[in-house]
Amino acid sequence: MRQFRIHISKGVFLEGDATNILIDPLVLPSKRPDLVLVSHAHSDHYTPGVLRRISSTGVRIFMSTASRMIIDPKKRLKNVVEINPGEKIESEKFTVEAFDAGHIIGSLQFRIELADVTFVYTGDFNLEKRIILEPAKPLSSDVLLIDATYGLPVYVFPKRQEIYSQLLSLVREKGSDREIALKARKLGVAQEVTALLSMATDLPVLVEPEIAVYNEIYEKFGEILGRYAINNNPSRGAPFVARLSRKFPRGIQSIPLTGWAMKNGIPLSSHGDFKQIIDYVRRSSPDIVIPVCGFREELSSYLLGEHGFSTANGEEIILNL
Ligand SMILES: [Zn+2]
Repeated sequence: MRQFRIHISKGVFLEGDATNILIDPLVLPSKRPDLVLVSHAHSDHYTPGVLRRISSTGVRIFMSTASRMIIDPKKRLKNVVEINPGEKIESEKFTVEAFDAGHIIGSLQFRIELADVTFVYTGDFNLEKRIILEPAKPLSSDVLLIDATYGLPVYVFPKRQEIYSQLLSLVREKGSDREIALKARKLGVAQEVTALLSMATDLPVLVEPEIAVYNEIYEKFGEILGRYAINNNPSRGAPFVARLSRKFPRGIQSIPLTGWAMKNGIPLSSHGDFKQIIDYVRRSSPDIVIPVCGFREELSSYLLGEHGFSTANGEEIILNL
């Protein structure tokens, strides 16, 4: 019998007999980890000060090259090791392999082998083909730690092509003679919208400077976003890609693009929707599913009730396998 403890609260602490792995930490852990994994560069998956403190004690922090460019552009953090899809960290006690998570530039999912048990940590993921990025592929697992951001059946989004068509017809219809702002998360959906508008319309595309910084990183890693101009304000006849949080005066048509805007916007998200979560779980075929982030309990109940999967919840999980 092998025992593992998993602590989930502002990060995931996976504790085996011989190895402790900390993933996506927002706070300092109570025990020293042997290594830290950062899945991607969204700020709800790491705290800069926490990474600084942990790395200064000699613990190695693994993240992709693109994540590092965003999280630690001046390379001030100590003990950072870059790991990219297809690469492995191997020791006598554990193996960690990185895979593309298809969520944002440089996003990773991890397959972790500890005492002959295969853990998969999906991080935020997306399985759908889009105009940029490669989709993630589900990984088989014994224990699946899966993102449950949209872990409720109500969060089923239309197919990407339908969302793209809806967005493009709205921009063509309204955007040719008035100011129109498309509000998106500045790292993720904003780059997808830039690429879509620049490649599928003849309109000049304007991008807010705060977003353009991330556009450049996507382009550095080979993503094609097309032609756009950097501007701080919207202009008539030119769709404007802006931050989700930005407020606009009444005369400007503003459309939020996020999975949370199913009624008052367009549900374009970098996350997989509920259907993708279920699809991932079925294809991963785990012995136990542990939802991480979002609707953890609700997803657990659904997976157990509708599909008969064993699930675990709460802050402290003890697994005897
Ligand atoms: Zn994310």
